[in-house]
Parts: sequence; C-alpha cells; structure tokens
Amino acid sequence: MNSEKINQIKNLLKTQKKIVVVGHKNPDGDALGSCLGIANYLQQKGHIVQVVMPNDFPSFLKWIPESNSILNFNQHTAEVREVISQADLIFTLDFNALNRTGDLGTLLENAKADFVMIDHHQQPDDYAVVTYSDVSMCSTAEMVFHFMEALEDLEFLNAEISTQLYTGIMTDTGSFRFPATTATTHRVIATLIENGANNAAIHQNVYDTNTPDRLKLLGVALSNLTILTEFKTAFITLSQKELDDHNFKKGDTEGFVNYALSMEGINMAAIFIESEKDNIVKISFRSKGEFSVNEFARTHFNGGGHTNAAGGKSDTALIKTTSDFISILPTYKEALNYVA
Ligand code: 5GP
Ligand code: MN
Repeated sequence: MNSEKINQIKNLLKTQKKIVVVGHKNPDGDALGSCLGIANYLQQKGHIVQVVMPNDFPSFLKWIPESNSILNFNQHTAEVREVISQADLIFTLDFNALNRTGDLGTLLENAKADFVMIDHHQQPDDYAVVTYSDVSMCSTAEMVFHFMEALEDLEFLNAEISTQLYTGIMTDTGSFRFPATTATTHRVIATLIENGANNAAIHQNVYDTNTPDRLKLLGVALSNLTILTEFKTAFITLSQKELDDHNFKKGDTEGFVNYALSMEGINMAAIFIESEKDNIVKISFRSKGEFSVNEFARTHFNGGGHTNAAGGKSDTALIKTTSDFISILPTYKEALNYVA
C-alpha cells in the first residue's frame, strides 16, 4: 500500500465507525480468515464491526476463532440488511467484483457506505474509495497482515488474528506450495506462529476431516476422470446423483480438482459439479505454469479468478457443458502445449 492509501485509511478510521466486513459467496479459508482477521483488528481499534458472508461455509472451517459470529445473508437476511443500511464503511475482502457476493451484490451496490477493497484477484472493479489490490499476493490473508503492518499496528496481532490469517494463507497457497508463496509469505507465517497460530492444529482441523462418504465420493470423482493428452488437460465430473449417493455436504469436493492436475504432463485441470438446486454446473479450473485459467474461465464460463486457479459456471446440462469444454480446447492446443 502506498503512503497516500495509508493516509486515506487512517483518515477513514480516525473516528469510531460502524463497519461491515464482507467476503465472497461460498466463502473459503482465505475469505473467512482475512475477513475475521481484519474484523478482530478493527474491533480492537474501537470500531463496531460485523462480518457478513453471502451464504454458509463448510464445516471444516467452522472451528476458526470467531467464525460463529458471522451473519450469513441466506439465513440472516433481515439482520444483514439492517447492518448494511447502518454501516459507515464496508470492507470487501478476497473478491474483485460485487457480483461475486451473489444476491447480496444488489444490496451492496445500493449501500450508502464507503467501500474499502482488499483483494488479490485480477482485474478489480472500481467501487471502493480505497482499493488495496495486489495480484502478486498469495492470499488476502497475507494482505491483511501487510495492511496492519502499514498502519504500524502489528501490536494488535493476537492469537485469534494469527490463527485466522494462518488459515487463509495456508488454504490459498495449497499449504505453501503454489508459486505465489514467497519468502515474505514464510516470514509472515513465522510471525503468525510466534503470535499464537498453532500450525499443526490448524492443518489437522482443516485437512484431517474426511468422512467415509467424502472419501468414497473422491473415488467416484477419480473414476470419472477424463484425460485429454493432446491438450495436456484432464477433467472430472460429478453428477447430482453421485453427490446425493454420498450425502454431499458443502466443501466435500474441495481439492478434488488438484488430483487431475497432479499428473505429469497435465497443464490444465477442471472439475464440473452439477447443482440441481442452483440449476447450474459449477466449475473449478486449475493450471500449472503459464496457461491462464482466469482468462479461460472469463471467456467461456462466466467466471474468473487467478492465473492458476479460477472458477466459473454453466447453465447447460452437465454432459453438454463438458462437450462444450472439449470442443473449445482445439483453439488452445498450442497455448496448452508447454513443459510446465
Ligand atoms: P474455486 O475453484 O476454488 O472455487 O475457486 C478458485 C478461484 O477462482 C478463487 O480465487 C475464486 O475466488 C475464483 N472463482 C471461483 N468461482 C468463480 C466465479 O464464478 N467467478 C469468478 N469471477 N471467480 C471465481
Ligand atoms: Mn483468496
């Protein structure tokens, strides 16, 4: 953050404010960790803060400190309307466009409050009075640390914030393995551990939560794997019936797409998951190296994200969606044929 933005933020926070902190739809570890972390910090600074999410989040993230204080718009619609209408400031974290909050987006668009954006996704929209966007960052949680650092407020880094930010960084970096993980990230992590993040416990809480149903669903996903060697691409499908047969719960398919990408010689992977409730197919894309799944998802599947991790959706049936996907690939044959 440059000094002008730091001063703008200091000005906005000079007097006590009513602040709402918002994350994206289907909140992940980074959305939750960064929002809860900044909320704890702003509360310590004397502000009145409420964290809001568009909808519920998976149970493997429900142990995060203070996550039970979150209002989700799906379940607490009236309360969310009320806090947003009362807010002086709305901090939006871990997303780059208000439509990433689903139905909550319209409410946000009409809010009278000033917005502050903290985010690491590409092509941020211009709705905030202060936009702290850095696409080189591994996670929004790391940005919250730098935000506190820039405001010379690291003394507020307690065990709760350390745990919240550690969780965000860990989940968005695939446990510190993706290329955006830097030496600075590791220094930040070291500081978070020094301030009370219990690294072993956090890994266990997030990753050692398999149920028999989830492991069997993974088995189905892997048996549905299609490998398109010509395009260095692999994809997985899961139908609504397959999900139902395994008592699917939010978060159960998290990380499945990475198995498709983990094969040698595969540069792009996708998972297509049917959702009868929303009448869409939800898609996750991953890549290794230069191929931008952000561009691919934006161009063809009404989505976006990062160069190596993006998402999107399709309104057509599962079979048609995957056949459309396959029919697009020849255009990208050369772009996909590199050694990662
Ligand atoms: P995931 O595949 O884990 O759901 O998401 C991967 C990345 O893509 C995340 O950074 C997420 O914010 C972004 N993303 C996922 N779905 C969408 C979408 O529908 N639209 C946009 N713009 N980004 C998405
Ligand atoms: Mn993120």
